[in-house]
Order: sequence, then C-alpha cells, then structure tokens
Amino acid sequence: MVELKNVSVTYASGVDALNNVSLKINDGDFAFVVGSSGAGKSTMIKLILKEIDATSGIVTVNGYNLSKLRKRKIPELRRTIGIVFQDFRLIPSMTVYENIAFVLRVIDAPRKYIRKRVPYVISLVGLQAKANSYPDELSGGEKQRVAIARALVNDPKLIIADEPTGNIDPELSYEIVELLKGINECGTTVLMVTHEHDLVRHFGGRIINITQGEIVFDEVIGGTNEG
Ligand code: ADP
Repeated sequence: MVELKNVSVTYASGVDALNNVSLKINDGDFAFVVGSSGAGKSTMIKLILKEIDATSGIVTVNGYNLSKLRKRKIPELRRTIGIVFQDFRLIPSMTVYENIAFVLRVIDAPRKYIRKRVPYVISLVGLQAKANSYPDELSGGEKQRVAIARALVNDPKLIIADEPTGNIDPELSYEIVELLKGINECGTTVLMVTHEHDLVRHFGGRIINITQGEIVFDEVIGGTNEG
C-alpha cells in the first residue's frame, strides 16, 4: 500500500514540486500516473523509494512510515518494490538469465532458489527462448520484458514502471501494458507513469493526473478496449 497524506516537497532551489498531495493506492491496485513534464511525477516516485524526503506530510509504503524509517532499513523497504525504467537499464555484458539472477545474487539468495526462480520469471514474461541472449540481441519490447522479469524476481509487493513504453514501438507498448496488467492480476500492485494518452484511453482503469505538483484528477475510467 502506498499512502501520501498532505505531502509537500520543496527542493532546496525553492521549487515546490508537490503541493499538499494526498493519495492512497491499495494493495492489488493498478494505477496510471499521468502529467506533463515537470508536473511532479518523478518527485513522487523518489519519495516512494525514499530517495528524497517529504518537506511535510506523511508517506507510508508497504507498511513503512518513511519519515520514521532509519537509513539502514531503506534497503529493506526497496526490496518490497520492483522498478522498471524507460531505458531498461540492463547490464550489456550479462545474458537475460544473468541480468535477472544478479538481483538475487546481491542479496545472497540460495543458489537452489535462484535456479528455480529465474526461469520461472523468465517464463512469466514469455522469454524462455531468449534466456541466454544478451541485451543487444533483443528488441526494445523484449528488453523491457527482461526488465519486468528482473523487477519481479524479488516478489515485490509493488511495481513502479516509469514510462516503461517510452522507448518501444507503439504496437508493442500495448503488450507491455498487458503484461503489467497480468502481473497485477496475480496480486502485485502496479503504478505506471506514462505520457501516452492513447494507452491510458485504451486500457482505462484508475488514472491519477498530476499537474504542477497537485493531483487534479484521480478516477477510474472505462477503457475503449472493453465491451
Ligand atoms: P516530472 O517527473 O513530472 O517531469 P519532476 O518531479 O521531475 O516532474 O519535477 C517537478 C518539479 O521539480 C519541476 O519543476 C522540476 O524542475 C523540479 N525539480 C525536480 N528535481 C529537482 C531537484 N533535484 N532540484 C530542484 N528542482 C527539482
């Protein structure tokens, strides 16, 4: 669960990036976050990851009150969150399998578990045939599937996808959202930041619009793909 209660963020430069924002995303929700450049979307993501602190207000993420969370506990918070970036951020010298296994190796997961878990998440994103390929041998859509598998491998409660379709052909963007929707249906909360109004209209669901640091719209709409 993610909850922002009367949260404001003012950067040292004096910019008010978020202004008295309140928002609740329950476990199991799927929400699109939309808003133009500079609206405050990245600031919200940074707050959730505790990369920055709120200037005022309360941020709660997956049971952690972030204003009270000690520094040494931040990795524990972050392990409950999977992140997918616009630019994939895969390690070029590692295969698909290794890119995903790496996440578990750095937290000293048992080898036996890694050998079971990694093929499982690779199959969830439909890339069994590419497990031994390197990132530069994959299409944009495939790279993003790897990044989604990597975000999932730790079994996070929440996935934050930050413009996940930004570097992908429009036709394949729909598949990426379908994949995130499928993951959400299995119980993971998904927060997807996007600029792509067509995608949002197509899928519908909860849309949160941030404009100049304020939530100006937060409602569930029907998608054009329904019915
Ligand atoms: P978005 O992700 O929606 O494009 P941001 O959250 O990045 O918006 O930015 C919100 C506002 O805060 C913008 O006016 C931006 O210029 C400003 N901002 C973002 N990061 C910083 C920072 N580190 N220092 C000062 N101002 C910042």
